[in-house]
Amino acid sequence: MSLRDFVSEISDVLFPPLCLACRRVVQSVPPAVFCANCLDRITFLTGSLCPVCGVLFPDSPAGDHVCGACLASPPFFDRARAAVVYEGIIADTIHRFKYGRDLSTGGALARFLAECPFDDLDWHRCDAVLPVPLHKKRLRERGFNQSLLLARALGRKYGIAVDFSLLKRRKFTLTQTGLTRQEREKNIKGAFETARPGQIADKNLILVDDVYTTGATVNECARILKHSGAADVAVVTLARVI
Ligand SMILES: [Zn+2]
Ligand SMILES: [Zn+2]
Repeated sequence: MSLRDFVSEISDVLFPPLCLACRRVVQSVPPAVFCANCLDRITFLTGSLCPVCGVLFPDSPAGDHVCGACLASPPFFDRARAAVVYEGIIADTIHRFKYGRDLSTGGALARFLAECPFDDLDWHRCDAVLPVPLHKKRLRERGFNQSLLLARALGRKYGIAVDFSLLKRRKFTLTQTGLTRQEREKNIKGAFETARPGQIADKNLILVDDVYTTGATVNECARILKHSGAADVAVVTLARVI
């Protein structure tokens, strides 16, 4: 047993890993982020999907097919995938992370995201992982960018550079909460700009955010990245509003 494994075992005995949601001791080895009971209450986004925006068609006999929204108005991103549905304990823990400024919860959610399979994304062709940026005023208020923490976990897992300087937020926008899809699109329009377009042109990029609600934010980011010549923009979020 290496020293590192030994220290890790001792620390598991002294500080047993706790479920992020219910705080009961997690029995699995290696310790999972959520206990088996809580995992049962999380809906993973697997099954028949829209290959573009990743919306789930529960129990669809038709299998994967492009959804009506993507047919009517194709997004600028090439595909979007989320790990889980935004509800219950996932919504609670994301809220604790973002608004309670609980970085240890954020670290655990980032580990959880990195453990989720995103098999239909071509990680090996990806040139850079980009977090959705926060405006510097929002960054000062919150103290961290939740998307950067998630992006770093994915970058580490797949060995891809995380670049938070290519995409910037130039406009301070009010919270998107409570707005309709059209209001969100209007609110976010023109909020982002790119830097160093030479690093964007012809590149395959993966954009990371915490929650996909209507897709307005990531779509506006993708619009700007495509305008700067990005070859392919995929979106990964931890959770998705269904
Ligand atoms: Zn639990
Ligand atoms: Zn779709």
